[in-house]
Amino acid sequence: MLIIGITGTLGAGKGTVVEYLREKQRFSYFSVRAFLIEELQRRGLAVNRDTLTSLANQLRKEHSPSYIVDELYRQAAATGGNAIIESIRAVGEVDSLRKNGSFVLLAVDADAKTRYERIVLRASETDHIDYETFLANERREYANTDPNKQNLQACMKMADLKLSNNGSIEELHRQVDECLERLKQEKEPHQRPSWDEYFMDLCRSVALRATCNRGRSGCVIVKDKQILVTGYVGSPSHLPHCDEVGHLFRKTLHEDGSVSTHCVRTVHAEQNAICQAARRGVALEGSTLYCTMTPCRTCAMLIINCGIRKVVADYKYHAGAESEEMFEQAGVELQYIHNEVLQYNNQKQEKSE
Ligand SMILES: [Zn+2]
Ligand SMILES: [Zn+2]
Repeated sequence: MLIIGITGTLGAGKGTVVEYLREKQRFSYFSVRAFLIEELQRRGLAVNRDTLTSLANQLRKEHSPSYIVDELYRQAAATGGNAIIESIRAVGEVDSLRKNGSFVLLAVDADAKTRYERIVLRASETDHIDYETFLANERREYANTDPNKQNLQACMKMADLKLSNNGSIEELHRQVDECLERLKQEKEPHQRPSWDEYFMDLCRSVALRATCNRGRSGCVIVKDKQILVTGYVGSPSHLPHCDEVGHLFRKTLHEDGSVSTHCVRTVHAEQNAICQAARRGVALEGSTLYCTMTPCRTCAMLIINCGIRKVVADYKYHAGAESEEMFEQAGVELQYIHNEVLQYNNQKQEKSE
């Protein structure tokens, strides 16, 4: 939940920012003006500049100087989603809203000349003033130190984020997006992965180097939260890979008369990790093995005899039941990150059994 209050000098482009947040970023919208109009209508009073001003003054006097924006914040917070409040005009309002943890003040500004030209174009009844008067009015407002009186420039000085609207609308939108991205990052502190996530992510990276597409598997063996060895599925060193010369299929005849087809060109990821340990003289006793899917029968037997205590597999292997049973008997703990069976190319051939 992000509740943004917007402030900005006359003609800076608050409305454009609000419109973008509402329409493109799906912010709910709460406006001081709409709040007052609704209240006037509820009381059966006419809606015009005088009644709006007198109601605002009355509410502030009866409750508190920041009453209206505080009410809008309460309504915005009740939605539970992102919201924008238009607009924040007094320093006292900012002080009051700041007491809420999720409040962010966004300011929009532009060069005085540009803003003056915009309000002349807009030509609302009160804006028919010359440039010098326009500047003098702003200076007078800024000089006022009453925290409950409108002082846009003082509010802008208090803003968490500032947009400069001297360029195109697209440029302004881009600045809004950047602000939202920054707020998102600040609100969501960096999440460290768990140890299982950390080692499985590494295992997935290792697997990218696999050279047989019938399950591009990886393996990482760790002990005491440190990596011992890694391996991925591929041909023995100096022999051609499946990705280069195709698979080397062998049919296996099972007890029940069924036949399954396997690629036998490769050393499995788990076997390669174990080979690496053998070459480097690393003991695997008491370690944990991370792998892409349930190890096959041969790998499972090697894992058991290497003294590996725990196997964490990313997915299930469609023919992994035998290994699961052996791990159970041997007292090797088996854990799955995902409970689904891993699907890979031409898997069906192997399911001909
Ligand atoms: Zn292959
Ligand atoms: Zn295997």
